Amino acid sequence: MSANLLDGKAIAADLRNHIKTEVEAITTSGQRPPGLAVILVGDNPASQVYVRNKQKACEEVGFLSELIRLDAGVSQDELLSLIDELNQREEIDGILVQLPLPKQIDEETIIERILPTKDVDGFHPYNVGRLVLRMPLLRPCTPKGVMTMLERTGVELAGKDAVIIGQSNIVGRPMALELLMARCTITVCHSKTRDLEGKIRGADIVVAAVGRPNFVQGDWIKPGAVVIDVGINRLDNGKLCGDVDFEAAREVAGWITPVPGGVGPMTIATLLENTLQAAKLHQVS
Ligand code: NAD
Repeated sequence: MSANLLDGKAIAADLRNHIKTEVEAITTSGQRPPGLAVILVGDNPASQVYVRNKQKACEEVGFLSELIRLDAGVSQDELLSLIDELNQREEIDGILVQLPLPKQIDEETIIERILPTKDVDGFHPYNVGRLVLRMPLLRPCTPKGVMTMLERTGVELAGKDAVIIGQSNIVGRPMALELLMARCTITVCHSKTRDLEGKIRGADIVVAAVGRPNFVQGDWIKPGAVVIDVGINRLDNGKLCGDVDFEAAREVAGWITPVPGGVGPMTIATLLENTLQAAKLHQVS
């Protein structure tokens, strides 16, 4: 049996279309479009690609998009002042600081300076805290995008055993909170976890966010399980692959995400969704 493919590219295109229609309705009614400011510090090649893709997506749906490039040597105080300025600007609904930041800058201090209603990445402790308390506002994009994909499978989540591999602040932890909120029973695995294979074998839902190519073996997957591969790894031949051995896993799983074309496009579409949500918060307040 071959798994159903969870086509992130198609779901993301759908989501963008939906957002575009909403933006058209907003601007037709005389209101301003949602606005996203992206701050890029330095010239990390991967960050440049991510930022370009985010800008392109903003333009496609009719958002105001502003890219602010700063020199790699910028001081923390300068970056904080820029955030203060963007926090004040009415036409900016979302502020995204592309990570990683250079060593002289403390990421937590920067994230905490962003107004929580403009924190479209959902990384501010206020937004993470709200997710913990089951009263989410702006939710971290990658896990929220995964939840949108899971909804599309039609699989009932309540009561399912979900295993998340990885415990990072941007993927693993918020993913666990999302699945817990959907009433799954969650197991969060990390580099010190014992018998990872055994845990995966028992899982109805597997979310892999490790950053190691083909780390999860196909024969660890429970027949019919939903497999979400968050990993993005570049191989020596230049090709991208995920954390799951896709070809083997798709023979066993019920649903599986490809890499590329799975979670990646959903993360960007969800950023747009969060920016639209932030714009609505600002326009009613
Ligand atoms: P990270 O390096 O911060 O976290 C990796 C996690 O894997 C850690 O919690 C670590 O404990 C765990 N881990 C490492 N070795 C392990 C092992 N042997 N067994 C079990 N767990 C182990 O990475 P991250 O930022 O969470 O990203 C993970 C992957 O997801 C990367 O490939 C990244 O590029 C990708 N990513 C993709 C998207 C997307 O939109 N698709 C978004 C963010 C990250």
